[in-house]
Amino acid sequence: MENKEASDNRPLDFIRQIITDDLKSGKHRGTITRFPPEPNGFLHIGHAKSICLNFGIAEEFGGSCNLRFDDTNPSKESVTYVESIMEDVRWMGFSWGDKALYASNYFPQLFDFAVQLIKMGKAYVCQLSPDEIREYRGTLIEPGKESPYRNRSVEENLDLFLRMKNGEFAEGSHVLRAKIDMASPNVNMRDPVIYRILKVPHHRTGDQWLIYPMYDYTHCLSDMLENITHSLCTLEFEDHRPLYDWVLDTLQTPCHPRQIEFARLNLTYTVMSKRKLLKMVEGKYVDGWDDPRMLTISGLRRRGYTPASIRSFCRAIGIGKSESRIDMSVLENEIRNDLNINAPRRMCVLNPVKVIIDNYPAGQVEKLTVLNHPQNPAMGERTVPFTKEIFIEQDDFMEEPPKKYHRLGPDREVRLRFGYLIRYVSHVKDENGQVTEIHCTYDPESGGGATPDGRKVKGIIHWVSATQAVPVTVRLYDRLFKVEDPEADKDIDFLQQLNPHSKVVVNAAMAEPSLQQLQPGEKVQFERLGYFCADPVESRSGQPIFNRTVTLRDSWQGNNN
Ligand code: ATP
Ligand code: MG
Repeated sequence: MENKEASDNRPLDFIRQIITDDLKSGKHRGTITRFPPEPNGFLHIGHAKSICLNFGIAEEFGGSCNLRFDDTNPSKESVTYVESIMEDVRWMGFSWGDKALYASNYFPQLFDFAVQLIKMGKAYVCQLSPDEIREYRGTLIEPGKESPYRNRSVEENLDLFLRMKNGEFAEGSHVLRAKIDMASPNVNMRDPVIYRILKVPHHRTGDQWLIYPMYDYTHCLSDMLENITHSLCTLEFEDHRPLYDWVLDTLQTPCHPRQIEFARLNLTYTVMSKRKLLKMVEGKYVDGWDDPRMLTISGLRRRGYTPASIRSFCRAIGIGKSESRIDMSVLENEIRNDLNINAPRRMCVLNPVKVIIDNYPAGQVEKLTVLNHPQNPAMGERTVPFTKEIFIEQDDFMEEPPKKYHRLGPDREVRLRFGYLIRYVSHVKDENGQVTEIHCTYDPESGGGATPDGRKVKGIIHWVSATQAVPVTVRLYDRLFKVEDPEADKDIDFLQQLNPHSKVVVNAAMAEPSLQQLQPGEKVQFERLGYFCADPVESRSGQPIFNRTVTLRDSWQGNNN
């Protein structure tokens, strides 16, 4: 595809440039990256950016990428999250060698390194309370204050650290801190906590440990133990880099990975933090982590996004150093372009009104042969039954149509998609003024797209046979939030910015019979309506439930459906 070529010819982003230079200069003979999710939630589209970067680099440079669970906070982590993360990375089309890795695998080594730091006089056990530690830390403009426990002897520190490990002390009463510099302009260097007491069972190590290492301390050492060459993370870790380097320099480790930061992905009309996504799940504002409106990878999968569309989105947005907010329409256009090429066409009527073709024989079922994709005959053909009674969309008929309306109305003729021309005869309304039946005649000579006497017909409308169609459930999903930045106003809870029309369920749509056979996860275009996917989770054999992936055009108005 044109698109791909163009992006492949783009100059390298700054990270790929660094890696290219490192290989050229002989600094590294190979490249090893890692993707380090914390298993405390499902992955989202922001993680996809990091996945495509880390695994993508490994593919492009003939290196490898580890999947490493950063599981140092057992109180928020679970096996369910671990499993969903593995499924999502695999679905994205990436693999990670023989087995997934876990920071918890390294707990014994991390403990030994902590003992080493203590012996070097570079770590101490502190008994300030969490509040006091915060207070002593100082601020961005004021230096911190040294802890009264800072100058304990090595022996005392070793004894206390061991007793912390053995469970002799209560949570929060003791921590192990790196002894760096309380006056550092970088608050991360003001004697950061590296171990805390947590009497919580871990999803992998059970109750083997009563102390757990902190993220900053764990991350650099895990990278080192795995011989990572380039440790890629988002910009908020820039100020943590001196600590990353301090730990490895102080311990004089044989390997010292280079941390490089890039801008995280932000998207309009969504929130990205796992904490907020969890709030929506727990508060039942959405139907779970994989709700098709969620920008989680599992949500996007149910919505009908393909791995290719997400990967090409990540390629399109690129890697840089400055924070920005990408427009949701960029993501939507990627899946639109993919499905425009790859999704077969089908017909489905969401809000049916009956049309009776007066001059068509009752009881006759004509099998019209139609192409699955008008621009791509290789996608084959199917038959669509045509009968005397059909359904069309209610809004494809108007009693008093304005000039620009090219669909059905009094004295008008329209073409049925892939079928005949029909001409209006009369219509019937109920006591509420609702149109219940439209009578038409058809032109038997007008099949196969031909207009017998060269008549110009502007309107083409989709339809299904009233007797042959099958009723289906269709969920019209839309953007989850009604404003571009749900977090912009600090006085408004982001939950109040939810779009009340983000999910509209149509229970009695009428679909052409072939749609009944659609397999869970299969994607189609409903002619004139948009792209839809048979829900991969809730569809049953012969009873697909359709999720709208995206409309045919970018028609967002903030409240449409
Ligand atoms: P969140 O802020 O959503 O809770 P997180 O950063 O805490 O996410 P982790 O599981 O720690 O989530 O992330 C794993 C990796 O994914 C990290 O390297 C992180 O930098 C990266 N990542 C997370 N969010 C984004 C994002 N929006 N854009 C790019 N990379 C991201
Ligand atoms: Mg994190």
